[in-house]
Amino acid sequence: MAGAGRDRVPLIVGNWKMFKTSAEGARFISDLADQIGRLDDREVMVAPPFTGLYEAVRAAEGTSVSVAAQDVFWEWEGAYTGEVSSGMLADLGVRGSIIGHSERRSYFGETDEWVAKKVWAGLERGLLPIMCVGETEDEREAGLTEEVLARQVSAGLSSVRAADGGRLAIAYEPVWAIGTGKTATPETAGKAIAHVRREVGETLGDDIAEAVRILYGGSVGPFNIDELMAQPGIDGVLVGGASLQLGSFVRIVQFERP
Ligand code: PEP
Repeated sequence: MAGAGRDRVPLIVGNWKMFKTSAEGARFISDLADQIGRLDDREVMVAPPFTGLYEAVRAAEGTSVSVAAQDVFWEWEGAYTGEVSSGMLADLGVRGSIIGHSERRSYFGETDEWVAKKVWAGLERGLLPIMCVGETEDEREAGLTEEVLARQVSAGLSSVRAADGGRLAIAYEPVWAIGTGKTATPETAGKAIAHVRREVGETLGDDIAEAVRILYGGSVGPFNIDELMAQPGIDGVLVGGASLQLGSFVRIVQFERP
């Protein structure tokens, strides 16, 4: 597999989880857009709760910020109380969706099979799926990291046609690093990401593996963003806590690579 991937446009995604009202989110996006200005060498997305999406999309119009959802359902419509389809998100002007976040896997029983259906549904309606994978602390300590990542990647991509593979992103988020302040070292993250990329190659072919953007997530902040982004193969970051404060998120967006 060739190249250090510097052709892949870096992607910075803020996952707001269950924070910010719709007015707070819209204000944040306007302020963010003012501070970062026009960007052509990186992409910036924020993922508000469903209730904030409409106002977020309006606030992001004409700026360098775009809006993603935090989840999506795989059916187009029907009697699925509480669910939102990819077509409904696309209709609002939402551009992507986080899928299979570890909080959804652990608190809401999300399975690899569901993740695969959601990735497929997102692609079908033109959303950028940001598929999350990552091992727990127990799995890492038991030496199972590569096995877990291989299973999550191959299962999650099982419904993706190779032709669509370039239109998705994957976030490697070791569960032990999410919201804990324990960041993976750039080397550990880089090694796991290289493994994820190999697995994408096995599933969809080497060309897709070379095109797909693989992000790191887990306690990313202004203090570690530059060293993470300096690591070959890390094409961006998925940021939770540090995406909620304007100053820290602006600094993350303005990362510098050597
Ligand atoms: C996340 O929620 O995807 C995440 C990485 O959270 P944090 O940055 O707070 O660890």
